[in-house]
Amino acid sequence: MSFRRGLKRGLSGGAVKRSLDPRLQQRPRATASSAGCGAGAAEVIIAGGGPAGLFSSFLLARAGIKSTVLEKAERTEDYSSRSYTIVLNERGKGALLSGSPLFSKLLEAGSERRFVYMIDGRTGSESKIPKNPPGVGFTRPQLVRLLEAEVEGEPLVKLSRGSGVTAVTESADTGFLRVHLDDGSELKATHVIGCDGKWSKVRQSLPSFRGAAEITSVPSFGVHATTDAPKGWSRDGTHVIKGSSDLFYVIASPLPGDRRSLTIVCKEKIAQTHPWLRPAEVDGPAAENWEGDCAEPEFKLLERLEGLLRDELPAFDIGAGLRGGHINRRASWLRWKGEEVTFSSEGGRVALIGDAAHAMTASVGEGCNCALESAARLAEAVVAEMKAEASETCSASAMSKAFVSYGLARPGEVVPVQETSATRNGWKKEI
Ligand SMILES: Cc1cc2nc3c(=O)[nH]c(=O)nc-3n(C[C@H](O)[C@H](O)[C@H](O)COP(=O)(O)OP(=O)(O)OC[C@H]3O[C@@H](n4cnc5c(N)ncnc54)[C@H](O)[C@@H]3O)c2cc1C
Repeated sequence: MSFRRGLKRGLSGGAVKRSLDPRLQQRPRATASSAGCGAGAAEVIIAGGGPAGLFSSFLLARAGIKSTVLEKAERTEDYSSRSYTIVLNERGKGALLSGSPLFSKLLEAGSERRFVYMIDGRTGSESKIPKNPPGVGFTRPQLVRLLEAEVEGEPLVKLSRGSGVTAVTESADTGFLRVHLDDGSELKATHVIGCDGKWSKVRQSLPSFRGAAEITSVPSFGVHATTDAPKGWSRDGTHVIKGSSDLFYVIASPLPGDRRSLTIVCKEKIAQTHPWLRPAEVDGPAAENWEGDCAEPEFKLLERLEGLLRDELPAFDIGAGLRGGHINRRASWLRWKGEEVTFSSEGGRVALIGDAAHAMTASVGEGCNCALESAARLAEAVVAEMKAEASETCSASAMSKAFVSYGLARPGEVVPVQETSATRNGWKKEI
């Protein structure tokens, strides 16, 4: 399908409701020995054990397909001021539940977000916008741990932490891909799913992707900190605090306990009046894990931020003050060039999912929702090809066909969401 046709479909609105084949939802967990991994079967490596990678491995296991997840980080992060909250909406919740009704338990562990509270930071007056249906909020570490717990019960998934992928190369002679690791070793696979985030090494190492997409900055950035919850604030929603300045506003999200995670969303020109407040000038990932967008704290950053909030948003009670502040780089997203965008490599050996394929700015809160949905879309394509072959096992050729069809269809659904998100952060599309 052409990108344009897909684009039309994606613009028709919101999450596209589809479910995995119900037979797969009910399918008992396969054991490693019963798996469809015999001669000619696909052998899958998933680079990256964030939401996209973990959910993909789960879905493949449900289809009887074995995979190895290579995650660069040694352990799941604890919550810190560098973390942020992720709200799953109908798109993300729908994707999880289409994978398995078991995920309703996972969703219960999050906190319900029923409203967006709009606060006037000068007067304290509040209006609330219902979120219908409600979202479910998680800290990122919490969501990753919950997904990891689901994957741990799957005998067909091997999760290897502390394994960073440096590159993927295709070797025409053996028909296998070579996955190079940061300890110098290499693994082979028939297929690789790149779920290794915005700065994906998988994407960067393959000729069919290289040059096809670029990380594009927008003229705004976020500053993160945490604070105590102001008295009387409900936990069932996100608070957006605005003052008279159009240069910044604050998003406060409930954290476990009685604290709030703050994101101070700044337009770049705020640095003209507040020169201490400017996005970090870092080219490329500061650190190559999911914290990669963060710069070191500025000198006296917390004091200065507290002063800014007290001056501009006097009705916003920051109690004992802020903790753990840091300034991010400029927000950015992954912009694909050209008309025929595809998230799969030539020949269909490699597919990209999540931020590796469609990183977007945080303004519409859709990155993780789209990441989970992409995992579901790829799994649907795989299952469809297995059905077409009337086979319980997934052959390498069926997997390649599935990667190609996912790769062509998915951009039309998700690129419009990326563009909406970037536009909200001041990006202007060239006409
Ligand atoms: C402030 C903020 C708020 C957000 N709020 C929301 C929200 O409300 N709703 C929403 O839907 N989304 C939100 N997002 C976006 C969301 O966090 C991402 O879209 C989502 O985490 C993408 O998941 P992923 O698995 O594709 O990538 P990531 O979460 O980036 O995970 C990638 C994983 O790959 C690993 N990795 C990286 N490189 C390698 C390598 N070379 N080899 C092996 N492993 C590697 C990383 O350690 C990481 O575990 C927000 C983002 C930000 C910054």
